[in-house]
Amino acid sequence: PNSKSGDGKPRLLLMGQRRSGKSSISSVVFHKLPPSETLYIEATTRVKKESMHSFMDFQVWDFPGHVDYFDPAFDTENIFEEIGALIWVIDAQDEYIDAIMRLHKTILNLQQHYPAINVEVFVHKVDGLSDDFRQDTFRDIIQRVQDDLSDAGFENAPVSFYQTSIYDHSIFEAFSKVIQKLIPQLPTLEALLNSLCLSCRIEKAYLFDVLSKIYIATDTSPTDIGNYELCSDYIDVIVDVSEIYGWDRPEGEAGEEEYGESGNQDAESLITMEKKGNNYLYLREINKSVFQRPESASMADPKQSRYLALICLMGEDSSAEKKALIDYNVGVFQEALKQVFPR
Ligand code: GDP
Repeated sequence: PNSKSGDGKPRLLLMGQRRSGKSSISSVVFHKLPPSETLYIEATTRVKKESMHSFMDFQVWDFPGHVDYFDPAFDTENIFEEIGALIWVIDAQDEYIDAIMRLHKTILNLQQHYPAINVEVFVHKVDGLSDDFRQDTFRDIIQRVQDDLSDAGFENAPVSFYQTSIYDHSIFEAFSKVIQKLIPQLPTLEALLNSLCLSCRIEKAYLFDVLSKIYIATDTSPTDIGNYELCSDYIDVIVDVSEIYGWDRPEGEAGEEEYGESGNQDAESLITMEKKGNNYLYLREINKSVFQRPESASMADPKQSRYLALICLMGEDSSAEKKALIDYNVGVFQEALKQVFPR
């Protein structure tokens, strides 16, 4: 219900004080910039709309001291109407009292006008803090925000907190949780993934947004950041390789066999299975039109609409039969997805 944009994509808005890390987050997650290179990027100077070929839509806002973004002169209406979640970035390595005060004002405003927007607080740059200090800081921030809100009469405002850093996978994990709240079909997706795991003895299955490597759903078995890392690294390898050979090559072109593409009703989709250490990884590109209404699908740029992949992690053998079993069940899964997201 919160993903209000016309094309059905979840919309996110990233806000926070200057130097809190907004541009870095957006560059690392959505433009694949190595974290260490964020030292050299320019700080966000004003409202910046990002357009990206992803499952979600995304904007970055800074608030220079003089801009009151709830000023009637400032056209917030259009923007906030479309937003599913506001991500508020707080620099945990810096003085944060001021940031909390501004966050508080923003939440009060949102509660009044747009109570459906989730507020997601990223307590950011926690990589620089010792374990103890990090936990204390995190607790302190939560406490202050909640105390302020309950003083103002809001006991149950939709505010959640995450510890994040661009130097590890925590930023991707946090984004994944934020996005999942905006997908009304999540319980159905989880049930489908559960049943896929059960029928093929898969340990963990993720539905990934390929570009950002945020997962929009996973089965309900416990998540483990190590599994996420394996799958995320695998996407890097596959996407790199497929870019070399051309992910969207037409059927029958050279190079196809190397990916073991077979038994595939969707001629364009990429399927691979590989051993990584003690695990087997299976990747299949998911019907790119599943999440898109036809009118918004870009004809000009086929890459634009190609953003979901199913990745499965298995510990055991990967006989040809096993792969055939998975291929078959993933086909069933893909058909079910089309029912969940009718066009
Ligand atoms: P913005 O003004 O909010 O867009 O902030 P920037 O993205 O320009 O970031 C300001 C500084 O914070 C840069 O030097 C980044 O390298 C640094 N930074 C961003 N994220 C992190 C993080 O997770 N950990 C650490 N240690 N530094 C970060």
